[in-house]
Amino acid sequence: MDKIKMTTPLVEMDGDEMTRILWQMIKDELLTPFIELNTEYYDLGLEHRNETNDQVTVDSANATKKYGVAVKCATITPNAARMTEYDLKEMWKSPNGTIRAMLDGTVFRTPIIVKGIEPCVKNWKKPITIARHAYGDVYKNTEMVIPGPGKVELVYTAEDGTETREVVHNYTKAGIAQGMHNIDDSIESFARSCFNYALDLKQDLWFATKDTISKKYDHTFKDIFQEIFDKEYADRFKEAGITYFYTLIDDAVARVMKAEGGFIWACKNYDGDVMSDMVSSAFGSLAMMTSVLVSPQGYYEYEAAHGTVQRHYYKHLKGEETSTNSVATIFAWTGALRKRGELDGNQELMDFADRLEKATLSTIESGKMTKDLALITSLENVTVLNSQDFIKEIRKTLEN
Ligand code: NAP
Ligand code: MG
Repeated sequence: MDKIKMTTPLVEMDGDEMTRILWQMIKDELLTPFIELNTEYYDLGLEHRNETNDQVTVDSANATKKYGVAVKCATITPNAARMTEYDLKEMWKSPNGTIRAMLDGTVFRTPIIVKGIEPCVKNWKKPITIARHAYGDVYKNTEMVIPGPGKVELVYTAEDGTETREVVHNYTKAGIAQGMHNIDDSIESFARSCFNYALDLKQDLWFATKDTISKKYDHTFKDIFQEIFDKEYADRFKEAGITYFYTLIDDAVARVMKAEGGFIWACKNYDGDVMSDMVSSAFGSLAMMTSVLVSPQGYYEYEAAHGTVQRHYYKHLKGEETSTNSVATIFAWTGALRKRGELDGNQELMDFADRLEKATLSTIESGKMTKDLALITSLENVTVLNSQDFIKEIRKTLEN
């Protein structure tokens, strides 16, 4: 059988720990036997980030801007313990944060649905994709503890020195105060990424804020979305047969619980933080959740939503058997390969991505799975496989 050819390279960002081990296994067993893999390789493993003073992360993000599509392995975000463990020169920033800032992108997280792993919410039949605005609000706030009586004001000083003031509160007793901000540009990028991704997936887009209470702050989010939709996307949505739906956040939450899924839910930063954990745990497992960073210019970076699975890696280093779930990492590859195929008009590559996803899911549906899934499946007669054997089993399914 001839291997599938690729005309444009895919940006490959390797990573750390157990997911780095899975990464190689996936390439060896599920990709290179079938595709003449054409990737531009960046090693984002912590050692190499440290050697290059994190330049490799910046280079990989620039390569994503050049080629349009990247696939990323989970990476360690250094903390104090990692400084010692890896003898780091500096506490390098989160690669995801660096890449997201450079691409000005929005992260979309989608659960992978498979028979035998049922969502806790029984009417959820299709995935719900959460898009989280990853800039500002309470995550970049300024806070004050107010010790006693006095006045707190918001003061805007324009470049010419003129001041505009709003009283936050006249305190008669001790209390607290908080200042938050956002930027129109960032909200616009968020909106465009969401509209583009909805068109990509041909799924409805929902967006919600608390604009009835927050008449300027949240209302600006609502207005920016609506303006961009009307000007740039309304016709394309109509053509694609999808809708943009705005409502209040509490109404959205109530509707989501009763919906059957199959839509994208755009959330402000805090709502996205909270709701993505709710949606992912209700769907079953972080190991069954993919994540894609979409920039308003249409650059894509695919990855798994989970981390480097450190605990399993230490077992692996001790020579103990691991049963780490590779599904989200496989789907990161298939997502990226399909998008590469779509941009290059490479139908074979797109078909291969579909086949590999199907083979992965039918392997699980046939009762062969990793331990994390075996613990929550409704299937009977389950065979628990180790990390390597699960991937080999997928290959068998793929070749049948
Ligand atoms: P994690 O790697 O997601 O793992 C947390 C736990 O979840 C694991 O110990 C395991 O539970 C379970 N788990 C996650 N993925 C699994 C999989 N594929 N198969 C089976 N079980 C899975 O999170 P963490 O341990 O908090 O973080 C480890 C490192 O990952 C950190 O250095 C962090 O900075 C990094 N991280 C990176 C990213 C990213 O690159 N996008 C995201 C998050 C975290 P059991 O141990 O109970 O089996
Ligand atoms: Mg969170």
